[in-house]
Amino acid sequence: MKLAYVGLPCQLQALRKLQMFSSEIGQSWMNQVELTIGLFCRENWAYTCLRALVEDDYGIKLSEVDKFDIKKGKMLLYRNGEVLLGIPLHETKPYVRAACEVCLDFSAELADLSVGAVGSPPKYSTVIVRTRRGMELLREAESSGYVEVRHISEVKPGTRLVVKLTNEKREENLKEAEQRAKHGYPARHIQSMGERELTGILEGAKGRSFADLERHVVEAGMCVACGTCVAVAGEHLEMVEERPRLREGASGEGEALEKAYLACPRTSLPTMLMAERLFSEEGEVKSDSLGKYIDVFAVRATEKAKLSRWQDGGAVTALLLQALSSGRIDAAITAMRDRDWKPRAVAARSEEELRQTGGTLYCYVTNMPLLKEVASR
Ligand SMILES: Cc1cc2nc3c(=O)[nH]c(=O)nc-3n(C[C@H](O)[C@H](O)[C@H](O)COP(=O)(O)OP(=O)(O)OC[C@H]3O[C@@H](n4cnc5c(N)ncnc54)[C@H](O)[C@@H]3O)c2cc1C
Repeated sequence: MKLAYVGLPCQLQALRKLQMFSSEIGQSWMNQVELTIGLFCRENWAYTCLRALVEDDYGIKLSEVDKFDIKKGKMLLYRNGEVLLGIPLHETKPYVRAACEVCLDFSAELADLSVGAVGSPPKYSTVIVRTRRGMELLREAESSGYVEVRHISEVKPGTRLVVKLTNEKREENLKEAEQRAKHGYPARHIQSMGERELTGILEGAKGRSFADLERHVVEAGMCVACGTCVAVAGEHLEMVEERPRLREGASGEGEALEKAYLACPRTSLPTMLMAERLFSEEGEVKSDSLGKYIDVFAVRATEKAKLSRWQDGGAVTALLLQALSSGRIDAAITAMRDRDWKPRAVAARSEEELRQTGGTLYCYVTNMPLLKEVASR
């Protein structure tokens, strides 16, 4: 099965780490991902927190909202195209996931294609093409007439805003990580980013138990809820309220939990080696604050893509439609919501299913266990 995977920067980190350590973990399902699309992300909110903020603090039922967006320092809630409510972002800060405050990746640097709003004019998505397979897909989608593509230099404001947000996120979150280290909660993923050898990371995971994972990641406010540990050691672990927990009767120790510790993107994250591996066959790529990439474009879906819902330019959905219709992928792991905006991971296998997945959910969607399930069938 050939799969596409859509996720936030931290989810791309989890996937790439899994792919890097797949032989040590002894599992290969993660290698069925042929295409990755990362979404720009400054931060996100747990569903229960978002619901408390909107419904309890502002008295608006989530079922009345048909779109969320973030613009000019506000979280905007829309109904029938009109702004229903604008919540100043500083008011949402107490609800932001603790793990977002120690994440250094804004533009999903380990994806084939990274997509966000910032950088492009309204109704376009900014697409950072990082790999050749990403570029091929974009050009194919353009030739099929699913997307309209303009070089980022032809539009305003352009990449300088993406660079600004990238640098701001990095600087603020490095400071937070320093503070946490002072209080005895080191950000192990940041400490290991420049690691040149994998031996230290493998040694560091030896003999680790679920209690270590809880102490180093969950209790330290580093857990991103990707569900990687649960995907790797599902017979021992389960996700409960966006946190990994031991299943009833599981001992919390043993080889499977050692592998879950190794796989977690927050126990270590050798991003330099991960990027080297990813881009080793890409030839000439640019390398700056946006990470490694080939080029940047402003992209929007055309009427031919027949999208029913989308967030910015509909680029993600249109590119996935192209990948599915050309046989490049059999399904895409992405996200959907119910009428109360409760998110869930989905595997879209048809063009119709894909069209249902468009739009941004500002809540985290645990998707690694679903990826494993679909890839293992
Ligand atoms: C939590 C979050 C924070 C973001 N923050 C920023 C930001 O600060 N600046 C910025 O420029 N852009 C940000 N984005 C990205 C932006 O909101 C759009 O998702 C992006 O521009 C793509 O728009 P589109 O119209 O091309 O995609 P669409 O065609 O609408 O497709 C969006 C795709 O993303 C998937 N998706 C939506 N939500 C999630 C989720 N939570 N987890 C996994 N997949 C999901 C959908 O299922 C769909 O496949 C953020 C996105 C998310 C989810």
